Amino acid sequence: MTMRPTRRNFIIATGVAVGASPVVTPAFAQAGAHVDEADEQAVALGYKQDTHKVDGKKYPKHDVQQQCANCSFWQGKPTDAWAGCAMFGRKHIAQGGWCSAWAKAPG
Ligand code: SF4
Repeated sequence: MTMRPTRRNFIIATGVAVGASPVVTPAFAQAGAHVDEADEQAVALGYKQDTHKVDGKKYPKHDVQQQCANCSFWQGKPTDAWAGCAMFGRKHIAQGGWCSAWAKAPG
C-alpha cells in the first residue's frame, strides 16, 4: 500500500505546520537593540545613555534638562524607557540620554 501525497501526509511527514512563520533572523532584526555608546555613530554624536554623564567641556551648550524624551527626534512616548531616534536607525536610545543633535521637541 502506498501513501497518497495529500497535504495532511506532507505535514505529518515533514513536521511543517501550515501557516507557521519561518524562523528568520536577518540583519535588520536589530530593531529595538540598544545603541551602544561605543558605536561609531554614538561616538560621532557624543551620545550618552545618561544625560548627566555628558562631557560639559566638550559640549558646553549641553544642559541636563536636555534629554532624549524631550528631543524632537524621540520616537517613543514620554513614558517609554527606550525608543527609536532618527539619528540611530532601528536601534533604540535611552529616555534619559542625550546627543549633540538634541533639538527641543515642540510643545
Ligand atoms: S537626536 Fe535627540 S533623541 Fe536622538 S539620541 Fe540625540 S538627543 Fe536623543
